[in-house]
Amino acid sequence: MTVTVKVLKKPKRTLADQVYVPAIASGVKLTLTRFFKNTFTSRDHEANEIATVMYPEEPRTYPPRFRGIHRLTHRADSSPRCVACLCCSTACPAQCIHIEPAEYEKDDPRYGYERYPATFVIDELRCIFCGYCVEACPCDAIRMDTGLHMPPSTERSHFIYDKEMLMSLPGQDRTFLSANPRHEPGDPSHPGIDREKGH
Ligand code: SF4
Ligand code: SF4
Repeated sequence: MTVTVKVLKKPKRTLADQVYVPAIASGVKLTLTRFFKNTFTSRDHEANEIATVMYPEEPRTYPPRFRGIHRLTHRADSSPRCVACLCCSTACPAQCIHIEPAEYEKDDPRYGYERYPATFVIDELRCIFCGYCVEACPCDAIRMDTGLHMPPSTERSHFIYDKEMLMSLPGQDRTFLSANPRHEPGDPSHPGIDREKGH
């Protein structure tokens, strides 16, 4: 077998490349341009292409699909939409969701085929904000549309979000609900089990 060797020529370096002075001057020019633009022009980022943000006094607007802190959505009666199916915790690659399912009371129409989360905890410090839990949920019960990022803290316990905390956070539309309708058992729109009909 013949092997063809391709010899690559080294790029020639000019004197200007060797002394680095033009490259340094170009870098200094760019830095000074940015400095004076940021210091003396109005703080209209888009118009003036200002890169510096005076955070936290001037927070940056997050895009609509920004994945923020989780929330658990509510039903119209303020109970959790979550049915404790464990799909989200199964899909979670960081294994940071812990759910303990429980049965509704016997006089509740949901008793017997739908559960609720007695415990629902997310360790937001372990979370990698991949959004798999949101994708996996069949009930639109967990969302990351709060528009909030995690507040800084040196206390680990501040990053453990329980059910009450997750249900206390509204979405960016300031409601606790979800735009998707919830088809409750007994509704004509409910596609599944009907207790009265026995299926
Ligand atoms: S965003 Fe990803 S890592 Fe975080 S809880 Fe959901 S599935 Fe787990
Ligand atoms: S949040 Fe959704 S996926 Fe997770 S347990 Fe509840 S219903 Fe299932």
